[in-house]
Amino acid sequence: MKRIGIFGGTFNPIHLGHIHVVREVKEGFGLNKIFLVPSALPPHKEPSDVVNARDRIEMISLAFSNWSDFEVSDVELKRLGPSYTIDTVRHFKSVLPKDITLYLILGMDAFLEIDTWKSYMDLFLLVPFIVMARTGTMDDGTVLKWKNVDDYIKSKVSDGYQFSASRSCYIHDEKQPVFIFNVTPVDISSTKIRKLVKNGSSIQFMVPETVEELIKSKGLYL
Ligand code: ATP
Repeated sequence: MKRIGIFGGTFNPIHLGHIHVVREVKEGFGLNKIFLVPSALPPHKEPSDVVNARDRIEMISLAFSNWSDFEVSDVELKRLGPSYTIDTVRHFKSVLPKDITLYLILGMDAFLEIDTWKSYMDLFLLVPFIVMARTGTMDDGTVLKWKNVDDYIKSKVSDGYQFSASRSCYIHDEKQPVFIFNVTPVDISSTKIRKLVKNGSSIQFMVPETVEELIKSKGLYL
């Protein structure tokens, strides 16, 4: 049976942190393919900060040009209005063959805000989650957040979720599983990259070379 992941984000811009963790998830879960889904109008971000969706798509395509198992999807750009994950999951469920298992991949930071997402309860009925946990070395409280997941999922989603240590997964009788997957922490963020570019500093080793060239040639984030 095929397994396919959806990894959504603003990707403003895509960086080596995203690339590294999404490859770890692909290996760890034996996924056949991952769709990268940039959001058109991120409901949670300040739109003036965000470069044109076409530029973000181009950067993702460049970043994954050598890996056919990763594909950028423009589904959120084709819809009018803000991008909501629930609509994206419904879209992929309707167009992919029925025997495919779809997974929604997201960072721990995003997961811990999921109760602010449109129809988030329906998401837990529709699709298993892979939550990427960056434990260990981050100095931003990530370890603490890991501990908070238990309280969060039980209070905001359902107290029927129980942690299965053997599967590193929250399971529920009626809802989809939520896998917690430890990834190697890579301390890079799009915010950091945008700041560096604005200050005229190098972003070498933070984004693929081809992405760096595109940012320079188009004068993005200045
Ligand atoms: P920004 O700094 O603009 O908030 P970001 O770097 O967090 O952006 P997003 O596009 O918002 O990037 O991230 C998409 C997803 O990737 C989120 O679920 C986020 O948790 C995850 N993510 C971002 N950076 C990393 C990283 N270095 N390691 C692991 N996951 C990451």
